[in-house]
Amino acid sequence: MTRYKPAEFEVMDLKKILIVEDEQKIADIMVAYLDREGYSAKTTASGTEALELAASFDPDLVVLDLMLPDLSGEEVCKELRKRSDVPIIMVTARTAEEERILGLEIGADDYVTKPFSPRELVARVKSVLRRASGDDEFLAEKLSFNDDRMVIDVGRHEIKVDGETVTLTPHEFKLLVTIARHPGRVYSRYELINKVQGYDFEGYERTIDAHVKNVRHKIETDSKHPEYILTVFGVGYKFAD
Ligand code: CA
Repeated sequence: MTRYKPAEFEVMDLKKILIVEDEQKIADIMVAYLDREGYSAKTTASGTEALELAASFDPDLVVLDLMLPDLSGEEVCKELRKRSDVPIIMVTARTAEEERILGLEIGADDYVTKPFSPRELVARVKSVLRRASGDDEFLAEKLSFNDDRMVIDVGRHEIKVDGETVTLTPHEFKLLVTIARHPGRVYSRYELINKVQGYDFEGYERTIDAHVKNVRHKIETDSKHPEYILTVFGVGYKFAD
């Protein structure tokens, strides 16, 4: 006799993906592939509805097309960022490198360019979720600097600067932790992109610069004269020692 064991079903924690895409065909393909990988995907063609679903559906990750009929993907991204640090993968047009960089500057975690293969999208989704979920290498660990004026609780994904909690996106957090673990060591942009995104791509230098700019705005008293993340001209960045 087969016995029904509800506990086994409760253990399955389906990650929820919100797909914001107005081209129905593309949205359907994304859902089919994500579904097959065990994700629970929901789609909408509207930026306004996406913002509502961000609250009601509470996704673990958002795949966001930049060109939408109502709000632009950029507006949706900015609005989402005001409310949460949910990972966002931006979907952009193939030719527009500016668009991709812009996406990362306004807080997206990654992007795919159209046309992309559904497999590529699934790989990006997995990779972003893995990084967002805290990561195997991020153990319980606290880093503190400047007489405790900045404290990074790595395990809890929490940063406090002068007693105030600072919210970083998963990529920004990873960038900061990577360099803060080894103050004084110089990291090239190439090295950082590999550590932060997990791969390199055309335009990565400006991507790292964009992440650094965002992190500086959030943690530095004066982002033009940073005390923590220092530029090493012609090479990359280092954390002040
Ligand atoms: Ca579109």
